Amino acid sequence: LLPLSAAIALLSAASGLLVLRRQSSPRTELAKALKKGELVAHYQPIIELATGRCIGAEALVRWPRADGSQTPPDMFIPLAEETGLIERVTDQMLAAVIEDLGDLLRDDPHAHVSINLSAVDITTGRILPVLERVLDGSGIQPRQIWLEATERSFIDVDGARATLLELRRRGHRTAIDDFGTGYSGLNYIQNLPIDLLKIDRSFITAVNTEAPTRDVTPYIIAMGHELKLQIIAEGVETENQAEYLRTQGVSFAQGWLYSKALPASAFLVFWTARRR
Ligand code: C2E
Ligand code: CA
Ligand code: CA
Ligand code: CA
Repeated sequence: LLPLSAAIALLSAASGLLVLRRQSSPRTELAKALKKGELVAHYQPIIELATGRCIGAEALVRWPRADGSQTPPDMFIPLAEETGLIERVTDQMLAAVIEDLGDLLRDDPHAHVSINLSAVDITTGRILPVLERVLDGSGIQPRQIWLEATERSFIDVDGARATLLELRRRGHRTAIDDFGTGYSGLNYIQNLPIDLLKIDRSFITAVNTEAPTRDVTPYIIAMGHELKLQIIAEGVETENQAEYLRTQGVSFAQGWLYSKALPASAFLVFWTARRR
């Protein structure tokens, strides 16, 4: 048996090593993963509340590690944004979507996939030629590709407007993601060509609870109606929440009540069973 002090010394040396390895360079690791094409797309079904049918999916990036674990996107998307790798994440996700769901999208012109864009994709307009290149000759219609962007993407209002206008002209649909968590006032959203509003999960979780934000949820829904936007609720976990959203005229929902994000093959099975 090791004396306790020696065991502690060993353990702290080992954890020091781990920290060193992890600190070695997360950016390098992500760059390597991108180079090797290791990021994959999972798909969370989007459900039409009125019918319970599946109308499409949101593509969510996954980074599977050699040991079978996954690095959650919240841990590397901010890093990718800070280090200029995010553009490659966007491009690889778009390519993955076409590869995984291209047949489904060609077979069913009503199906759609939502892709998460980062602020730089929108403000610089860099996403426009990328989308054009990927969709040209693919047999997939622009209106089948929905684009989600958080309010941070709209801070440069002029850049955002130019990109959003062109996306609309081509027939894409655009959504404000995580709505309610940023600064959006009615005034500037009103002036941007946006089609959908995604209510952040925190406002859905609050439904029928004592949480202070529960009083905000109806206002956010009312704002969406006022702006003539279709509303998607994210993070729907209970039938109770779904029922509330239905009565409030919310169009679509996603969340664990219906399904977590699924690998492409499992999503295709879900789609076949639940498609509109
Ligand atoms: P998001 O766009 O708001 O995506 C929704 C997140 O909520 C996802 O987490 C999803 O798995 C999770 N979620 C869905 N339904 C439920 C539910 O019922 N309950 C709970 N507790 N969670 C639910 P995920 O996949 O970990 O993604 C986190 C964030 O990372 C996303 O938030 C998005 O901001 C970002 N992200 C994911 N994929 C991409 C991507 O391809 N590109 C970019 N730029 N960002 C991405
Ligand atoms: Ca999203
Ligand atoms: Ca969201
Ligand atoms: Ca969210």
